[in-house]
Amino acid sequence: MTVLVINSGSSSIKYQLVNPESGESLCTGLVERIGEEIGHYEHKYNGKVTEATEPIADHGVGLRKVLEFFDTVGPHLAESDIKAVGHRVVQGGKYFDRAALVDDAVQARIKQLCPLAPLHNPANLRGIEVARELLPDVPHVVVFDTAFFQQLPDEAATYALNREIAEKYEIRRYGAHGTSHKFVSETVTKILGRTDLKQIVLHLGNGASASAVVNGRAVDTSMGLTPLEGLVMGTRTGDIDPAVVFHLQREAKMDCESVDRLFNKESGLKGLAGDNDMRMVWKKVDDGERNAIEAIEVYVHRLVHYIGAYTAVMGGLDVVTFTAGAGENDSRLRARVLDRLAPFGVKYDAEKNAVRAKEAREISTADSAVKVYVVPTNEELAIARQAMELIQ
Ligand code: ADP
Repeated sequence: MTVLVINSGSSSIKYQLVNPESGESLCTGLVERIGEEIGHYEHKYNGKVTEATEPIADHGVGLRKVLEFFDTVGPHLAESDIKAVGHRVVQGGKYFDRAALVDDAVQARIKQLCPLAPLHNPANLRGIEVARELLPDVPHVVVFDTAFFQQLPDEAATYALNREIAEKYEIRRYGAHGTSHKFVSETVTKILGRTDLKQIVLHLGNGASASAVVNGRAVDTSMGLTPLEGLVMGTRTGDIDPAVVFHLQREAKMDCESVDRLFNKESGLKGLAGDNDMRMVWKKVDDGERNAIEAIEVYVHRLVHYIGAYTAVMGGLDVVTFTAGAGENDSRLRARVLDRLAPFGVKYDAEKNAVRAKEAREISTADSAVKVYVVPTNEELAIARQAMELIQ
């Protein structure tokens, strides 16, 4: 059996055909630069990459071509025993604390939530619309990035904002990357064979977030109303005094859209060091670039700040886990963070930290006060499994 997982962005569609039982990924692909002059397709199956470069007018055109790849290059969807299509949706608001079967009402809710995730929900919705049209005979399931954090205690989810305004505009901390934080914290729980754990998960990709998880329940997370809050990210500021917005409006005469773009697309590592990719930032560090050296210091400082805060919030800490692009691959970054935790008895094995692997692994020493893990996240598999559970 298989589930087709679709992650639809504003100008791209990522997809993967996954066996939710074995975890095997049978086929992956990417449609990019939708709506631009020239688009690009990449379909990987059986060790072979099929590509096409041509204009892709919209998501419908893109997905139709993807289905052609499945027919002509394989794997045949019908023969793959496809049970469901799983869609990633960023914002489920207060309405969804778990995955949901798509019907017109669910689709309307996702649409209604667009103002809370203007960069993501409209694109996610577009993917659902065209996929339902093109694959009408299989159930479609949506998995929300916010669902895992619907269980946050009120004290962690509530901004100290005027209550009337907050309620009217549904302003609270929803979190994001929840599918990954849930998958990774559950993986650690399974490895250790214990549910009574105080965990911190650090999802460090282009977007980055931290979560505090006690006994399997999320009790805090760094992303807020939108994925802008929290850690330093590839292009996002993370935490910043909101008065910076007023200041820029008054002094630089910037309007709302310009500040939005500045904070979401032109800041973070890119704003500090000129590049959003951690590998490039390290290269600049090695070349002695002052801005890059400082960018890493700011990035690490913010991480240490959150680890300290979450340890206090949870009243202790059993495990810290690194995941996503930089979390999984960047041993130098991990070492920088872990060195700062040495005064608290955190010890790691430098050789284990340096190993590159696709498997979940412990990198702390036996006498470390806190266990440290690296766990590759797999949001597609998590979505496929949640979709299967729901339709069963
Ligand atoms: P996304 O957040 O877009 O889903 P990923 O989780 O794949 O992305 O993370 C991508 C980011 O991970 C890159 O922008 C880069 O900063 C970082 N990254 C990937 N590989 C490495 C590596 N070997 N060393 C350092 N950083 C890496």
